[in-house]
Amino acid sequence: MCGIIGYVGYENAVPIILEGLKKLEYRGYDSAGIAVCGRDGFDVVKQKGRLDALEARLEAAPLSGHMGIGHTRWATHGEPSDANSHPHVGSRSKIAVVHNGIIENYQRLKARLEQKGIRFASQTDSEVVAQLAETCYDGDIMETVVKAVGRLEGSYALGIMCLDRPDTLIAVKKDNPLIIGVAAHGLFIASDVPAVLRHTNLVYYLNDGEIAVLNKDGARFYSLDREPLQKHPETVTWSLDSAEKGGYPHFMLKEIMEQPKVLRDTVQSAVSGEAKAAADSLDPARFDKIVMTACGSAYNAGVAARYVFEKLCRVPVEVELASEFRYKDAIIGEKTLVILISQSGETADTIAAMREANAKGAVTLSIVNAVGSTVAKETAHTIYTLAGPEIAVATTKAFSAQLALLYMLAISFAYKLGRLSETERDALTDEMKALPGKAEALLGRTDEIQHCAAGCIAYKSIFFIGRNVDYAIALEGSLKLKEISYIHSEAYAGGELKHGTISLIEDNTLVVALSNCERLAPKIMSNAEQVASRGARVLFVGSCAPAEMGDRMSVIRLPAAHELFSPSLSVVALQLFSYYVAANKGLDIDKPRNLAKSVTVE
Ligand code: GLU
Repeated sequence: MCGIIGYVGYENAVPIILEGLKKLEYRGYDSAGIAVCGRDGFDVVKQKGRLDALEARLEAAPLSGHMGIGHTRWATHGEPSDANSHPHVGSRSKIAVVHNGIIENYQRLKARLEQKGIRFASQTDSEVVAQLAETCYDGDIMETVVKAVGRLEGSYALGIMCLDRPDTLIAVKKDNPLIIGVAAHGLFIASDVPAVLRHTNLVYYLNDGEIAVLNKDGARFYSLDREPLQKHPETVTWSLDSAEKGGYPHFMLKEIMEQPKVLRDTVQSAVSGEAKAAADSLDPARFDKIVMTACGSAYNAGVAARYVFEKLCRVPVEVELASEFRYKDAIIGEKTLVILISQSGETADTIAAMREANAKGAVTLSIVNAVGSTVAKETAHTIYTLAGPEIAVATTKAFSAQLALLYMLAISFAYKLGRLSETERDALTDEMKALPGKAEALLGRTDEIQHCAAGCIAYKSIFFIGRNVDYAIALEGSLKLKEISYIHSEAYAGGELKHGTISLIEDNTLVVALSNCERLAPKIMSNAEQVASRGARVLFVGSCAPAEMGDRMSVIRLPAAHELFSPSLSVVALQLFSYYVAANKGLDIDKPRNLAKSVTVE
């Protein structure tokens, strides 16, 4: 994962890089570092821990320079430590590198370099890039980069500085994201757009196998054969405000609160905007099955959407974890639509699953939030979610946008397949249009949910149960809770409880029972009775929770919605619940331990 940023321009690079790193900290926060091209060599400061620790060191001993690179790390090789932090400088002090990714052949390369007498200062895979580049260096930095990356296996986004060229910043990538930002006072490289938004919204998206050579007046691009490339910058529509907290204590709460707008924008786009145009370009009659593949919450969005697609379209749908799909030799072909769901569009497993699907001739469609990302570029069809930048590591609004977009796609496919009449389609669309208002009403009840969450912080274990679409949201609610509150949690289909999990139920277990499906409400009630009689407390979340319940039971009652689309509301309640549990425990909600947002490594 990791966030990288580099700057070359007319201003002091150090505060610009520090501020950019703050915007990238969601990508990793084990350690951070910065290097500038100084008068007599590289000036490097690297510090284990959060960015604050690096900032404090830089306050005590300020650095300056017109070109620099910075990094916030999510360690893959070598523990989080000062020495393993990036940037890494070769032992001849000629080349400094920041790296996002994994160099898979680093041990082999390192052994060869050590045989030549080169001494390594860290245990990382990344240092090999700096050392290797120095051994390739013959005065021509471009040639050096081409030679060095030609020997790397694995994935990389690299920012490279050479001491002999204090005016030239180099970037190159394979399988990890990099953008080039163009501001009036200088140029940037960055892992993601929010890092440069304060300075510019004009960006180039670097592709695999492209090298960017930046100096303070402009960017040039080359292929790895050193052929000049013509690239065109794109204007990003995200505002700076959307990447700031806007008065909320955490990004997560701000992003939860943005969901009515996200739902509104998504439905609008699917009714008459870009999402409609993209959906119209697909003919669902071509497909005999749909496979959705994704990781984490995006996978849970797929689980929820499967119920909707199967119910409305009567087309078989499989949902696969991308990390499993990529290695299972999937049975897919040109009659399969493979839907890749990803916030960042850079998730390593999702990228691999997409390439597998493309190679097997399936039609690929991505549901992606980050414009210009690898998944968006390499799928045959792309529909962007309109969630805006999502900074909190635990996803909320991007999940809601994925869900709503998939619902709208299901409605559109069902209509095209003749499974829905125009009247039925319009009625379902109206149900979707009603969701933002209902989500707003729910978000007005934070006190109630906060109160409920405050009573739940002492539980050692919390189970989530549900049936049908409620099961999908049980998965997501449980994931959200464990991500940010560190409370052990599991999600089960209500009917599965008695096949094993019920043995874990004892006094002081909380079971959150989702109940939004009228026809299944009695079944969930039975499950609730079963666990309550074994000592559990039950918290119902839903519009179909029973009116009367035992004293071990309580409820967060949700606005009524169409059964199939009810996840858009129940997930909001569970996000708030998890948020307030974590807030009451005083945890670092936006940056939970061991996690990072965009999982660009395997
Ligand atoms: N492999 C590098 C390290 O451990 C970078 C990790 C990453 O990009 O996630 O330092």
